[in-house]
Amino acid sequence: AALRAELDETNQGVLALYAELDNQAAQLREASELKSRFLSYMSHEFRTPLGSILSIARLLTDEMDGPLTDEQKKQVGFVSGAARELSDMVDDLLDLAKIEAGRITISPAWFELMDLFSALRGMFRPIVDGTEATLVFESPVGLPKLYTDDKKVSQILRNFISNALKFTPRGEVRVSASLVEGDQVCFTVRDTGIGIPEELQHVLFEDFTQVDSPLQKRVRGTGLGLSLCKQFAGLLGGSVGLHSVVGEGSSFFVTLPLALPAEANDDQA
Ligand code: ADP
Repeated sequence: AALRAELDETNQGVLALYAELDNQAAQLREASELKSRFLSYMSHEFRTPLGSILSIARLLTDEMDGPLTDEQKKQVGFVSGAARELSDMVDDLLDLAKIEAGRITISPAWFELMDLFSALRGMFRPIVDGTEATLVFESPVGLPKLYTDDKKVSQILRNFISNALKFTPRGEVRVSASLVEGDQVCFTVRDTGIGIPEELQHVLFEDFTQVDSPLQKRVRGTGLGLSLCKQFAGLLGGSVGLHSVVGEGSSFFVTLPLALPAEANDDQA
């Protein structure tokens, strides 16, 4: 009977432990949901005033012949630059919140790589014009049309390219695409910039990671861009990676299936 009582007691103890673990898991889930909701609410709320700042700054810069002095025009340029940066960060936070809440939608469509590359070339022209770097898009040869989410692919490449340009003050950023194993495409963004120390390369795709070395002199950003790239690539059935040598440059790549299964169409929205 004593053994029985002891066993009962142990059972009770194990059950209580389970209940406590369950309770803690529920609390953690709730805290995580709260954090995602807060992130998404905050990002939404930031967007409206930011939009106003951006459009007023644009109005002022468009009226360059107006009453603004050169110094004032320069200041307005800083305002729009800072507002654009902030707006990119807010977009990253919003995407992170959506991914965490499982609310990211994948919308595959057929598209030509050439069209994606020309859109990216146009998007980066104003940025490249202001630097001493060149941005080259190699013509994709022998690649069929893709059936995937072109907006997500564009977002991944945009991130790679804008990082490459940030860390390549002079030199070249080269974007290319090639067929891998017959049914995948590998996009590479190669730069001849400052490179990334080997011991930091494996953490760059984690949330909020930035290289804090004297060479990088803390270029502004959230440290979220590459983590979002990795998560988007995962949602599209692919993966990301990098090769980098300090002082020589970096290559970031993303490998994706050429075509998503048609049923991915209506995903987890
Ligand atoms: P951020 O918003 O800070 O750019 P990312 O996740 O896109 O965040 O990048 C994380 C960090 O990785 C950057 O802050 C930078 O330190 C490093 N990094 C990314 N791309 C490059 C590159 N092409 N050359 C050198 N460093 C890079």
